[in-house]
Amino acid sequence: MLVVAVAVGFVGSIGLGQMAARHVMRMDPPGGIDEAIARAQENKSARWWRAERMPILLPNPGVRNRAASAPIRPAVVERTVLAGKGDTLIDLLVRGGASNPDARDAADAIRIVFDPRSIRPGVPLTLTFGRPESADPHDSSQSRLLKVSLPTAVDQSVKIERGSDDAFNARKEAHPLRREVVRNGAVIRTSLYEDGVATGLPPSLLAELISAFSYDVDFQRDIQVGDRLEIAYECYSDASGRPVKTGNVVYGSLTLSGRMLKIYRYQPPGGFADYFNEKGESVRKALLRTPINGARLTSGYGMRKHPLLGFSRMHKGVDFGAPTGTPIMAAGDGVVEISTFNYSYGNYVRLHHSGPYGTAYAHMSHIASGIVKGVHVHQGQVIGYVGATGLATGPHLHYEVLVNGVQVNPASIKAPTGVILSGAMLKSFEDERTSTDAALASLPTAASMTRSTF
Ligand SMILES: [Zn+2]
Repeated sequence: MLVVAVAVGFVGSIGLGQMAARHVMRMDPPGGIDEAIARAQENKSARWWRAERMPILLPNPGVRNRAASAPIRPAVVERTVLAGKGDTLIDLLVRGGASNPDARDAADAIRIVFDPRSIRPGVPLTLTFGRPESADPHDSSQSRLLKVSLPTAVDQSVKIERGSDDAFNARKEAHPLRREVVRNGAVIRTSLYEDGVATGLPPSLLAELISAFSYDVDFQRDIQVGDRLEIAYECYSDASGRPVKTGNVVYGSLTLSGRMLKIYRYQPPGGFADYFNEKGESVRKALLRTPINGARLTSGYGMRKHPLLGFSRMHKGVDFGAPTGTPIMAAGDGVVEISTFNYSYGNYVRLHHSGPYGTAYAHMSHIASGIVKGVHVHQGQVIGYVGATGLATGPHLHYEVLVNGVQVNPASIKAPTGVILSGAMLKSFEDERTSTDAALASLPTAASMTRSTF
């Protein structure tokens, strides 16, 4: 009887699944790989599949007695072990069947190209073992670790392999991802954010879109039920076609009460990528419309009865209600002009921006450290935190826009734009815009929850 060693292993295609099964003999475990992984995750003791030796009777009685001297292929066994919480790399290698010295040597090799402390639970480590030709096929103690493969990112893995000098060599291996642009849209029923998330848009992309539109759109007041959102963004998939990550928003449109606003992502040669309107003007303005995230506009600019003083007077700013401690951002690049406790304004910061523009922020619970007179700040930098200091009924930001030191209605000023493309740059932007529009036009109009690609 000739005994043929059969390697049984599986390569997990768990989670992001960038590992391709490439071994010569592969037998999926009963129930399939997905079930095996689920079982392995449940049951620590079944974390990997043992090699099985299957006796196979060959119809050649003439060589019966010579079976022991027949050439035997070195058994190659592949095992996959899933990282658990708190597992060290050496733990995993030993659990996968490596001897202690092999596990140490392999871990040392991996450390040269990758920090094993960043292995997250659930990551599958694939170990390959083999035996020399001369080894006794019945003695599994002669099996040695030959290779280890460890996915480190959606598009990268680390491989180590035992060289002819017996030492392990580690290298990083890139797995190219396929980029496609995905189109998605939503009709707004409750809020831009909620309806966007409901159509399956990643929250990070929605945040990027909202931030790009926030210079032109007041999300508290301008959005109505029935308004529409459209978005085209990059989606990357692995060799098996599974989407593994999203990239940038390349196009976005908002149709607000019939008025359509479009933005296009464009990277000028040698410059940074930014969003531009159809005319090639950067959507980024010198001043943010709302210098605070997630706030509600609680009081607008104009005459009102003061809630504490009881008589009517001009409200020379806008109030945003937000919990105490909510970060307040500088509305634009500028220099700190005033940073102090200022009577009814409470903790107060005033910034001077380019040209005649200034902004002021009142009632802060506290001013951010380093925000003192004369310091330069950039747009979006946190300058303080919402509070109710000074004459305030509750925590809110009182925000003022000043032109030549005089408070104005923030909604009335046409804030200076950022970059305006011209010449060759404008031409290259227009070419990109045209091809994006053409690609979008070749698809059915994205109504609520349609999804298509180009
Ligand atoms: Zn106010």
